[in-house]
Amino acid sequence: MNELAQQDYEPPLGLDFSSIEVVLETNTAENSLFSTTEFPTSDFNVISPETEKFRAKYFPFTTEKQWNSWRWQVQNSYANFKKLSEVLDTSDIDDVDFLAKSRKLPLRITPYYASLFYGNPSGNALYKSVVPNKLELVVSPGEENDPLHEESMCPVDNLVHRYPDRVLMLSTGFCSVYCRYCTRTHMVEKDKKHYGIKAWEKSIEYIRNTPAIRDVVISGGDPLTLPDKHLEFLIASLRSIPHVEIIRIGSKVPMVLPQRITNSLVKMLKKYHPIYMSIHATHPDEITPEVIEACTRIADAGIVMGSQTVLLKGVNDSVEIMKNLMHKLLKIRVKPYYIYQCDPIPGSSHFRTPVTKGLEIIQGLRGFTSGYAIPHFVIDAPGGGGKIPLLPEYYQGRDGNNIILKNFEGKTFTYYDPI
Ligand code: SF4
Repeated sequence: MNELAQQDYEPPLGLDFSSIEVVLETNTAENSLFSTTEFPTSDFNVISPETEKFRAKYFPFTTEKQWNSWRWQVQNSYANFKKLSEVLDTSDIDDVDFLAKSRKLPLRITPYYASLFYGNPSGNALYKSVVPNKLELVVSPGEENDPLHEESMCPVDNLVHRYPDRVLMLSTGFCSVYCRYCTRTHMVEKDKKHYGIKAWEKSIEYIRNTPAIRDVVISGGDPLTLPDKHLEFLIASLRSIPHVEIIRIGSKVPMVLPQRITNSLVKMLKKYHPIYMSIHATHPDEITPEVIEACTRIADAGIVMGSQTVLLKGVNDSVEIMKNLMHKLLKIRVKPYYIYQCDPIPGSSHFRTPVTKGLEIIQGLRGFTSGYAIPHFVIDAPGGGGKIPLLPEYYQGRDGNNIILKNFEGKTFTYYDPI
């Protein structure tokens, strides 16, 4: 089978997948990920007015059908500065070797996502979160490649078993967009697309042989960059294990590549309920008509969505931005779930806020908006201690048979609670 044919080949379920393992290097923009014959088949059909202007200006010969194909979006993503400079002012990044010198987190931005901040985006929140910055070269104390020590908690490759009853399966090392603060930089740094069916076998076997596991999170990289049939093979394999109660998919795709949420994808997913989806959302500007359509399709398929947001300096570190984001998420049926303190990966200090900033944001939400709009603020403990929730000081202490409480307005109350 030649290379292109291999890339296009989606095997029917039930085949022996070990013979069709494909790991595809995608480090250059020139590499072909998909056959052009696949582009016109998408059933996604929303292009917002601002994005349409971008398409008309930079892709005048691209049809709406092509633009709405997630494969076209991945194929045409910006994966080097030269290409990115066609649509963005990258003049402040004057070092051509920058990416080679950096900590090797690749550059990849879908044309759709670039359409949300093209032109002269200085100070734009979405731009800052995905366009490389020279500050990435500054490595500060306490930063490390795998700050959560996930690799030491893998009983088999790419399966993290940190908590007693759940596991995290790192299903691919590829993302359609690379976030500059990614906790899994060490995993996605090669920008490889895995058709890793053989690589999943040991993980599936481990889960099958470990009855305590009732919850499997499929993450990566981004699992929604996998073709439907590969994803279905994985989900169907997990669903066939009696003690696996719920399957969760962790993804940023609905925010950066909403075209991926085809009717055929959600039709496949709904066969394997209960399925949950944790959606990585960064800023209210991400909630476009395209994203609304994608989340509507997911919700209508009965998939429960929660959000995960990394708190980032200069991007979303204010009560107003976070409140706006949480409100917009609730409106599209995504329950705000976590705000994370940014993990200390190398070159991330320009993104990190003091921990008190997260507490200030929770304090600014609690009492001032619906309880449903309030996520947990957590620190993923360095070294693999797991998520630790942090709360503002509502509990002030004890005074004899009373405890002292502070409400959202800062008023103090005494609550009778005999010892
Ligand atoms: S989508 Fe997730 S895994 Fe991919 S770069 Fe962003 S944070 Fe990392």
